[in-house]
Amino acid sequence: MQNEALKLYDKTDEEEKKIILREYRGLLKALKQSLKKGDKAMLRHAFEMAVEAHKYMRRKSGEPYILHPLAVAKIVVEEIGLGVTSATCALLHDTVEDTEISLEDIEREFNKPIAKIIDGLTKISNVVDIKGDTTLQAENFRKILLTLVDDPRVILIKIADRLHNMRTLESMNREKQLKIASETTYIYSPLAHRLGLYEIKSEMEDLAMKYTQPDTYVEIAQNLKETRRDRTRYINEFIKPLKEILTANGLEFEIYGRPKAIHSIYNKMRTKGVTFEEVYDLFAIRIILKSPLDREKEDCWKAYSVVTDIYHPSTERLRDWISVPKGNGYEALHTTVMGPGGKWVEVQIRSDRMNEIAEKGLAAHWKYKEGAPNVQESKLDSFLQHLREILNNPDTDTIDFIQDFKLDLFTEEIYIYTPKGDMRVLPKGATALDFAFDIHSELGMKSIGAKVNYKLVPLSYKLHSGDQVEVITSSKQKPSEEWLQFLITAKAKSKVKSYLKEGKRRVAEQGKEILKAKLAQMHAHMSHFNLNEICAHYKKTSHQELYYAVATGGVDLKDLKNFTPHGEKLLQPNRDAKNDSKNLLNEGEALKNLPAKGESVILGDSNDKIVYKLAQCCQPIPGDNVFGFSTAGEGLTIHRTDCPNAAKLLANYGHRIIKTRWGKNKEISFLAGVRIIGLDDVGVIQKITNVISGDMKMNMRSLSIDSKDGIFEGAIMVYVHDREELSQLCAKLGELDGIQKIERLENTME
Ligand code: MN
Repeated sequence: MQNEALKLYDKTDEEEKKIILREYRGLLKALKQSLKKGDKAMLRHAFEMAVEAHKYMRRKSGEPYILHPLAVAKIVVEEIGLGVTSATCALLHDTVEDTEISLEDIEREFNKPIAKIIDGLTKISNVVDIKGDTTLQAENFRKILLTLVDDPRVILIKIADRLHNMRTLESMNREKQLKIASETTYIYSPLAHRLGLYEIKSEMEDLAMKYTQPDTYVEIAQNLKETRRDRTRYINEFIKPLKEILTANGLEFEIYGRPKAIHSIYNKMRTKGVTFEEVYDLFAIRIILKSPLDREKEDCWKAYSVVTDIYHPSTERLRDWISVPKGNGYEALHTTVMGPGGKWVEVQIRSDRMNEIAEKGLAAHWKYKEGAPNVQESKLDSFLQHLREILNNPDTDTIDFIQDFKLDLFTEEIYIYTPKGDMRVLPKGATALDFAFDIHSELGMKSIGAKVNYKLVPLSYKLHSGDQVEVITSSKQKPSEEWLQFLITAKAKSKVKSYLKEGKRRVAEQGKEILKAKLAQMHAHMSHFNLNEICAHYKKTSHQELYYAVATGGVDLKDLKNFTPHGEKLLQPNRDAKNDSKNLLNEGEALKNLPAKGESVILGDSNDKIVYKLAQCCQPIPGDNVFGFSTAGEGLTIHRTDCPNAAKLLANYGHRIIKTRWGKNKEISFLAGVRIIGLDDVGVIQKITNVISGDMKMNMRSLSIDSKDGIFEGAIMVYVHDREELSQLCAKLGELDGIQKIERLENTME
């Protein structure tokens, strides 16, 4: 066996071969008890395949690359507690991504389940390439969560991979360090926490802090080091009487003091505004009892009794996570007692089994679940079920979801009872309505109030641990916008949001019809231009908003009759309405100030004597080829020669056409429209307005955006000096990501 492996390394240095083999043997040793027949051969095969695949690759540190998958496999086994399948996958985790090996190869050489895990690992490995794009980041986070629901092993191996990368972050450049570190605190440490991997979560956060806040990190580490001797002395003094009495009570146990993680000390300093010296719980005392499953609860309470006989407990700080484990499966008794010298000391009491769950979380939980079916129905299973439900809702906005979900990950839990006495775990701050949604979405949708401990309360009532809640429903109830103000759980929020979105869309459809009818009555068209004018008038940001307001009575269409956009009489008349004759010019008046025949009217001169207006249908600006058209009572209307109406006007009313050209005036701004089409994206409005107001320093009159199925269409009305400026603007907007089309806005019919 050994010789065979050595052959593979004939190109590498003797030392390296030894190191690699030593690591591999270490992995085998860690797996030893769990190895069944054929397992060793499978692992060996994966090892050799990975060695071969990565043989020319080196890590940034200069080490042979294979040391990374080996280290990840070891973390997977030793620190997460997974078995040989996961170890095999860990060895192969970077092969499909980085080498010639394909998924088909993996499936052929191993089996389908292993190929599936590797596939999952490959899919989420691109996360590192995100460049501060929140949409992408959120999308990737969602992807990670999806694999979690599919097969939690994927995410556990990924966490091991990330942990090893964090441990070896030293050799990366500064930029990479920051990126990987922040991503770790954004995604991986909360997940590790949720999955009960406390040790790993703590280490990740400490390592991240080391790179993101190196000064503070070093300072606290230094302080811890300097105070270590005093602390050890204190811990020994604290433990001594406990040891004696616990032993006298016939308990088998281990007891030790454990320093808190640097980041958690830092968090205390920051949130409580105290100095390092003032953080009282720099360490916790742990009592791990060797008790059989049927006696562990009793033994834990016995130990609790011993501790509080010797040291006085703080009544507010008893946590019983044995009777009611945390959502991630954590079980223990925590108490804070007054130790020697008047210092508060936290004591954690748990059994061997509970300790393994505390350290290895999810994985350990499963192990025990299989062995002892009587152990509490897994809270993690219900967490995964819950996750599956939200992720399967196609309407969920990813960024919103991630925000809500991240809040869910971090908050403390409360325990609420149904009228029948079943217990539900909810995040702290949850309201009666959150509870209703937690039971069932349909129940949530129909809730009108609740009885908490037999007293009637509103839906917004904040629940407390131990409350018994009965939801009151009505078949007439519908979710409302208001609910979002007090809902805090991701599930409830996403249900209500998608309900409202759908409802709003339907209502808006009605509003659109109403508005159409109204405009028809006024002989005005439902044109993009008119809609923009009306939106601006009623201060609505999109056509959709306008329609919605029309349908719900948010705007009163009565005053639309008198509506005069920037001093002009009405919306563009319906071209089909044959009212042109009414508009015929009173010739004498119209020609009063016109120049002699053959001369051009010069537009945009500050000492203009000519009354003119710019046609709404084509909105000419300086630089455009234009002509004047005299209209009754309104003087001259200026059209672009490429105006859709130009041909008709020029052909039929030649005598009313006045030659015009632009003056050199740069002080007057003209209204122009731009239509912009692109991929819907968070912050698209922000980006567009940045270009207009920021880069171009232009004044914007209105901006309306409609989006559907991921595509948005916007109409921007902006004041420009001339055509050149407008094309500069279009060019600038065109440089934005995701913009597909930009054009001058013609007053086209919808
Ligand atoms: Mn890796």
